[in-house]
Amino acid sequence: MAHAVGIDLGTTYSLIAVAGAGAPPRILLDENGEGRLPSAVFFAEAQTQGAVVGFDAFAAARSQPGALLTSTKRFMGKGRAAAAAHLVDGARNYLLVDSDDDRQVLFQVPDGSGGVRASTPVEVAAYVLKALKDRAEDVLGGGAVADAVITVPAYFDDAQRQATRDAGRLAGFNVLRLLAEPTAAALAYGLDKEAQGRGQGTYAVFDLGGGTFDVSILTFDRGLFRVRATAGDTALGGDDFDWPIARRILDAVGLSTTATPQQTQQALQMARSAKEILTVRESVEVSGFLDVDKERRSVAFSLTRAELDALMLPVINRCAGPCERALVDAGLTPAALDGVILVGGSTRVPLVRAFAREFFGRDPLLDAHPDEVVAAGAALQAALLSGSDERDMLLLDVTPLSLGVETMGGVVDKLITRNATIPCSATHTFTTYADQQTAMDIHVLQGEREKVEHNKSLARFRLRGIPALGAGLARVQVSFQLDADGLLTVTATEQATGAVQSIEVKPSYGLTDAEVEEMLLASIDNAEADITERLLIEKRVEARRVLQATHKALDDDGALLEPGERTSIDATMLALEQAITGDNRHVLQEATEALDQVTTSFAQRRMTRRIGEALENKRIDQI
Ligand code: ADP
Ligand code: MG
Repeated sequence: MAHAVGIDLGTTYSLIAVAGAGAPPRILLDENGEGRLPSAVFFAEAQTQGAVVGFDAFAAARSQPGALLTSTKRFMGKGRAAAAAHLVDGARNYLLVDSDDDRQVLFQVPDGSGGVRASTPVEVAAYVLKALKDRAEDVLGGGAVADAVITVPAYFDDAQRQATRDAGRLAGFNVLRLLAEPTAAALAYGLDKEAQGRGQGTYAVFDLGGGTFDVSILTFDRGLFRVRATAGDTALGGDDFDWPIARRILDAVGLSTTATPQQTQQALQMARSAKEILTVRESVEVSGFLDVDKERRSVAFSLTRAELDALMLPVINRCAGPCERALVDAGLTPAALDGVILVGGSTRVPLVRAFAREFFGRDPLLDAHPDEVVAAGAALQAALLSGSDERDMLLLDVTPLSLGVETMGGVVDKLITRNATIPCSATHTFTTYADQQTAMDIHVLQGEREKVEHNKSLARFRLRGIPALGAGLARVQVSFQLDADGLLTVTATEQATGAVQSIEVKPSYGLTDAEVEEMLLASIDNAEADITERLLIEKRVEARRVLQATHKALDDDGALLEPGERTSIDATMLALEQAITGDNRHVLQEATEALDQVTTSFAQRRMTRRIGEALENKRIDQI
């Protein structure tokens, strides 16, 4: 039996889970009974060993030379310039490759034959995902595990989401959906509470892990999960508590400015365990050895909870801005919440709990499993999407950041504003500003600020073939489609003279589809199956899922169809069924998109009805 799995791809730890047939989600364990897999990859210098993942990566790094990569999720979908901001004080735990190509961060790692090569955050994530995939296949048996829901921080932008999706493909997954981590947590928490006859209301999910912070405000009401607002910081987490301690350790052995990546990694690991001990004790002896020029230098100092609190306070206070913004965007005060759910390993820190209590004016709920609840929610969503769980449920998520285009004067014109429910679309019509203008540059941006340079540039393209007319006469319609993964597609059409010129842009962190396919070809997984075959299979799976969902929708809500709509849906479904039997994945892709298109307005009517029903139920209750 094929299983659809849910994956929490964390900065520090990653987990994989399955759910289905009404059973509660199950975290899949490794051979030592451990659910968490450290998101760490070690590339050994010795030719005999390839990449090592998880706890083994730490062990291998202790016994032989090579590059240990940890917390690389912070660099997903970022260029080197943006990443440099995270390399504080020259204390580096990685070596970066210098390159003119600034689209991705490139880590320098041994190539296994005495030289070096570049690795990327996407490749590291793919290794972690592949290790989880292997684990799932071992535990579940009976064939390959392919379909997966992978979680991302709610505050991940388009490029960071694209990068995560690519990593999933590289690892051999068919990524059913990218799901926001706090939304996943709320889903698992809410369904669990619902099973106990509770769990309606409005909650804040406060998710502080190793590298990222998210806060989401959600309402759940019998099967309807609606995110009302989300905010966060994709570079804020427990790692930031470790660095100041690690620096003290490096100072103590005289390596303040000269530490190698290996030494920095050692110091960071010592720092992290000291920090975790201070969660349950008032003071800790930081002691151990660091290898410096073939000699072992010892470290020994004591650190108190109060000292650590002083180091952490400025970092924790940075949670306030996003919490404030999420509440304002949701139009709520803390008093209007029914509860605050804590998620993520760093919410074990007493000062973090104190912050949440202080900010929201109530004791946070501690009954969600901080390490496992995200993976559990992802598994539930995977079961729903793959049809192995038939519960009637609707999940409405939002986009964390506004999307727009550059207009005159270097300002951003927003087409979709943050916290809009996804999927959604928007269009805007531009006119030419010069006589005889035959081309127009379109610059797509993501972010909240007014000026172009303060937002993230997602894509630039040039629409050509505009008919030469007087200024202001040619009209270009730019339309944005944001899918359920929070990924954007942009289309521009010139419509003044009926000479339609259309271009489609898939914004990414700079990699084209061809380059991603190239990576797939060179991927860690290529021995297992022919890539073209795999891409085709992926598309078939997706097409069958869309067909199945459409059949169900027609059965459930046929009454909402408009005259003539059924005929065109039926025809498009038939065309898709035929495309599935063929072996051209591009044809298949187009047929799938055609069905999506022809059912969009029907889907919107269904959604409106579901929301209406949910509100209706609520009113009856309240009376
Ligand atoms: P991620 O989602 O980033 O993978 P997790 O939710 O697993 O992260 O949280 C990892 C972070 O939580 C790390 O910074 C880790 O040090 C911290 N953490 C875990 N347990 C504790 C603890 N008992 N006390 C303090 N920090 C902890
Ligand atoms: Mg996490």
